[in-house]
Amino acid sequence: MTILPIYSVTPFTMLDFPDHTACIVWFSGCNMRCPYCHNPALVMGKGRGSVDQVMAFLEKRKGLLDGVVLTGGEASIYPGLPDFIRDVKAMGYEIKLDTNGLRPEIIGSFLEEGFLDYIALDYKAPPAKFEDVTGVDKYEDFAKTLSLLCGQDKVEFELRTTVHTSLMDEDDIAFIIKDLEKHGYKGTYYVQNYIADNDRPTLGMIEDQKRILDIDALPTPKGFKIDFRNF
Ligand code: SF4
Repeated sequence: MTILPIYSVTPFTMLDFPDHTACIVWFSGCNMRCPYCHNPALVMGKGRGSVDQVMAFLEKRKGLLDGVVLTGGEASIYPGLPDFIRDVKAMGYEIKLDTNGLRPEIIGSFLEEGFLDYIALDYKAPPAKFEDVTGVDKYEDFAKTLSLLCGQDKVEFELRTTVHTSLMDEDDIAFIIKDLEKHGYKGTYYVQNYIADNDRPTLGMIEDQKRILDIDALPTPKGFKIDFRNF
C-alpha cells in the first residue's frame, strides 16, 4: 500500500524561505492540537499525495526553484523524512523546516547530518500556558529544541509566536522575551497577531479575539529584535 504523507504542495513562494525561491510541501498530521489552528483537515486528515509525486515535481522544477519548505501539520512526525530530505538535497535544493519543536531528537540528528539550511521554530507559549495553547503537556520537549538551536551557530533559525489573546497575554510574551534573552538568542522574534478566517473552522472552534495584544506594554528585548506581524 502506498503511504500518502503529503497533504499538498504550494508550487512557488518568495516569502517563506528567506533569500530563496521555493515551494512548500505540506505534511499531513500533527502532534499538537492548537485551538486556533486553521488547518483541521490537514492536522486530523489523511495525506493525499506521495513522496514520489513530490520528487517528480521537484525534478521538473530544477533550476527554477532553489529551496523547499517542509511544513504541516508537523513534518518531523513523518518517519520517512530523513530519506526524503536526503533525496531532495541530492537534487540540489536547500531545506527549510517549520517545526513546533516537540521532537528535539529528530532536530538534533538533522543538525548533525547537515540536513537543514534554515529552521522556523514556533515558541507556542510559556510553560504555564503550553497545554492550553497546544493541547499537549510537552513544554519540556519544546525547551530542549530551543536550547539545541540556541546552542549552535551552523544553521540560521527564527522564532515565532502566534498570539490569540483569549489564550495568551502581554505577560506571556514578556516571559518568552526574557527566556530568549537567557538563551542568548540573536535573531528576529516574530510575534504574529491571530487573524480569524471566518470561511475556515478552527481545530478548537475558538471564537475571535476580543482584543489585540498591547505591543507597547512589552519589554524591549536585549540582544535581538521583534518583528510584529498583522498588528
Ligand atoms: S497550529 Fe498547532 S495544530 Fe495546527 S498545524 Fe500548527 S502546531 Fe499543528
